[in-house]
Amino acid sequence: MSKVVSYFKSLLLLELLGGLWLTLKYLFRPKYTLMYPMEKTPQSPRFRGVHALRRYPNGEERCIACKLCEAVCPALAITIEAGPRADDGSRRTTRYEIDLFKCIFCGFCEESCPTDSIVETHVHEYHFDQRGQNILTKPKLLAIGDRLEAEIAERRAADAPYR
Ligand code: SF4
Ligand code: SF4
Repeated sequence: MSKVVSYFKSLLLLELLGGLWLTLKYLFRPKYTLMYPMEKTPQSPRFRGVHALRRYPNGEERCIACKLCEAVCPALAITIEAGPRADDGSRRTTRYEIDLFKCIFCGFCEESCPTDSIVETHVHEYHFDQRGQNILTKPKLLAIGDRLEAEIAERRAADAPYR
């Protein structure tokens, strides 16, 4: 019996018509396709993109070289060396590096930081064209933080009630 039904379905092109009907229905609906990169999807304040090191409003770097982020990083992507700063003797990082080839963007470093120093930004469009550019050094991380501080602060404020 099922063979007969299938035969008549094929004969009357019912499946083809069903497919064409579906196409016709979606022809007049709003499109899901985005014209990337001109159009972009909304992004959560918790989006985890490339990292940044932040400063306090007076320009002092937030990082106190506690190394919690280094210890918690499951990919061993963070390397920190620390020592007393020459002018005031406060403990600071002398080397802070993140290897983006190792990083899995889990966000643990950001979660563990007691001073909100290391954060992950919205930036996910970047590329490397030379060996070694995958290593984000302290000056690079601070520069990203300086450039995006207003947006980082805004996103963290939006997310604060849920933390
Ligand atoms: S996001 Fe995760 S993997 Fe990447 S540096 Fe931070 S802790 Fe390590
Ligand atoms: S970034 Fe935060 S967690 Fe990492 S060493 Fe500095 S203060 Fe500690």
